[in-house]
Amino acid sequence: MKYVSTRGQSKKLTFSEAVSEGLAPDGGLYVPEIMPDISGKIRDWEKLDYAGVCFEFLRLFADDIPDEDLRSIVNASYTKFDVPQIAPLKKLESGLYLLELFHGPTLAFKDFALQFLGNLYEYLLSKSSRKINVLGATSGDTGSAAINGLLGKKNVNIFILYPEGRISPLQERQMTCTGADNVFPVAIDGTFDDAQAIVKELFGDNAFKSKWNLSAVNSINLARILAQCVYYVYAWTRLPEPERSNPTFIVPTGNFGNILAGWMAWKMGMPAAGFRVATNQNDILYRLFKTGIYEVSAVKPSYAPSMDIQVASNFERFIYFAEKGDSAKVREIMAGFKANGKWVFDNFKAEGFSASKMDDSEIPQKIKEVYEKYSEVIDPHTACAFKDLSGSGAKVVVSTAHPAKFPALIEKAVGVSPKAESLEILKSKKIVKKLMRASARDVREYIEANAIR
Ligand SMILES: *Cc1c(COP(=O)(O)O)cnc(C)c1O
Repeated sequence: MKYVSTRGQSKKLTFSEAVSEGLAPDGGLYVPEIMPDISGKIRDWEKLDYAGVCFEFLRLFADDIPDEDLRSIVNASYTKFDVPQIAPLKKLESGLYLLELFHGPTLAFKDFALQFLGNLYEYLLSKSSRKINVLGATSGDTGSAAINGLLGKKNVNIFILYPEGRISPLQERQMTCTGADNVFPVAIDGTFDDAQAIVKELFGDNAFKSKWNLSAVNSINLARILAQCVYYVYAWTRLPEPERSNPTFIVPTGNFGNILAGWMAWKMGMPAAGFRVATNQNDILYRLFKTGIYEVSAVKPSYAPSMDIQVASNFERFIYFAEKGDSAKVREIMAGFKANGKWVFDNFKAEGFSASKMDDSEIPQKIKEVYEKYSEVIDPHTACAFKDLSGSGAKVVVSTAHPAKFPALIEKAVGVSPKAESLEILKSKKIVKKLMRASARDVREYIEANAIR
């Protein structure tokens, strides 16, 4: 299997190459050249456990990695989850299910891809005798999941910048209490945008970037999307037979990576009625799927902060597939959107997607309603997915974070304070972080002093 850029102006790569590259040199995102057909296989996968399904699925894509190596990478990636099912599918009532994706080490769905990516990086580095330094900025979940995925891995150090005092205390502990000596959390005296700007500036300096083998672990990486396809397929194999023909997956959405993965599994032959994009009040994708107009507006901070995104980076992959692989058209759309902050699609087709939106004013009420009806405490991101359960066939609501990550809001909404053992343990650990001014120069010096080479 080869991987091509959505913009069509980079050369085709193998799986390992595309994973190491991240963003394509032409600015596009890597996609499989052809979509394999899994429709004849997935019924047999119901006999397998999560890691088994994951291996069978990923070997269709990672065909430049020997099977026995891929199997051990996959097996190692799902050992830090706290339930044997890894991604339990819980029945709430007839035809309504909750797919719990928060049983990983940092209690959000990003662990599914970043645990795998961490092990994959370690494997690829061991083959090439290269060493890399991962650099990123985070407003919360991604940084902690990336750190946990790379924790203690050989040949890689990780530097994550975050805005001091502007992420939740628990999120900060997830990044700063690891005790690992290849992890360097940097608290920036500034905003998330300041941290992001420093990262961009350092990546923009080619000499610095190549000297230290700087690498990113952002949500556009091919391996992240493919690892996320797996839990949709796994959930499908766990649905009762009569409900397998047309389930609708409802997914709390920000950067469009999670839901796109489910939609790709559908394109490969997993039966489904459709995929519902559930946004918070940052509703660019909701507006797109209602009107065919993709237009940015200002980010409004919300109770579901991991979805406080306007430009959804994975959306470009959808455009590529919707335009049937016409990369000239993708370039035209992306350039037009970049220039004007807006693109009006003519004859827009939703291609299996529908959308809903939930304002902050509704989120605590929805958490309470779900608690009273099903005795389930859901987190504020998952709450957004309960907005619209309409349509025929089974509904699978994708639950993206553990409620214990948001204790104050949950306590206010339902009067109970959810707990998670891994977060309780963190509370007694020592915080190790470097506080720095919002200065690219200072951060550069810090990296130079601590980078692996
Ligand atoms: C990252 C995240 C999302 C958004 O997922 P995308 O793949 O960016 O659409 C939703 N909920 C939680 C809890 C997250 O951490």
